[in-house]
Amino acid sequence: MKDKKLFGLIGWPVKHSLSPFMHNAAFKYLGMEACYRLFPLKEEDLEGFLKNLSKNKIFGLNVTIPYKEKVIEYLDWKSPQVRFTGAANTIVVGKNNYLKGFNTDGIGFNRHLVYDLKFNPRDKNVLILGAGGAAKAITYQLIRRRVATILLYDIVREKAENLKEKLSQQSEDCAIGVIASLEEVDFKNIDLLINATPCGMKKTDPCPIKKDMLHKNMLVYDLIYNPTQTKLLRLASDIGAKTSNGLRMLLYQGGLSFTHFTGKKAPLRVMEEALKKAVNRLC
Ligand code: NAP
Repeated sequence: MKDKKLFGLIGWPVKHSLSPFMHNAAFKYLGMEACYRLFPLKEEDLEGFLKNLSKNKIFGLNVTIPYKEKVIEYLDWKSPQVRFTGAANTIVVGKNNYLKGFNTDGIGFNRHLVYDLKFNPRDKNVLILGAGGAAKAITYQLIRRRVATILLYDIVREKAENLKEKLSQQSEDCAIGVIASLEEVDFKNIDLLINATPCGMKKTDPCPIKKDMLHKNMLVYDLIYNPTQTKLLRLASDIGAKTSNGLRMLLYQGGLSFTHFTGKKAPLRVMEEALKKAVNRLC
């Protein structure tokens, strides 16, 4: 039997990830001799790992926290989204370890938000918690969809300021602000609240938002999908707000990564079924 082509996810931690379920289901469905696995990687091992992908028969990678920005310096070619965001979540390995970087997070988010949830971002006011790799990818899409305002909040204020600077170069119409504290926000004007921080992944994490900040006319979107309902989503759901976790964003970004990896159309239904099964096992 031919050696299986290897694909996978690098990050630290990665054990929460559901990506192997959807990619392996897609390989099986298409009859491909390929396998997707998790590569938990410490920072000191990142460079050696990326420089030896071809040698180790790895043909493509997804990238998650905390490496989406750190991988940039190893890329030989960057897509426009990667150039803008400075973050890559997909690496395609070519001949002689030639690394092409893509970012499918923003497109995955946009597809879910606009086409599934039917939320039209145009002229809306958005508050985003976190200004890391995912927030960059998402805001790039929101600007293109002509949101009215974007408020950025990150525990490291400088990151939010840097993102504001980048976004301001992309749009003259959108008002972009950085807040030092959530108490500054006039929440009744917020239409879309997005959690793009890892806060909520661990059971012991606090809820980043207080109940009285939420209102029932907002959409609260948490990028986290494991657990399926974070404290933030439970709180928002309790007060009657519309909520979504990041599972379908994961599906759509994964579908696009799959196409970059293989050149084939992703079998999204198969990938979705695999994700649903994996989620049911979590509950
Ligand atoms: P990241 O690059 O580490 O960015 C997260 C940012 O949020 C960091 O700047 C972090 O600061 C900041 N932060 C952490 N806790 C905070 C808090 N309580 N309040 C405000 N800011 C806070 O991570 P990422 O790659 O953007 O990912 C963010 C989350 O989205 C993760 O949970 C990830 O799993 C999820 N995600 C989901 C999908 C999907 O398909 N559903 C796709 C991409 C990402 P420090 O660095 O100082 O901690």
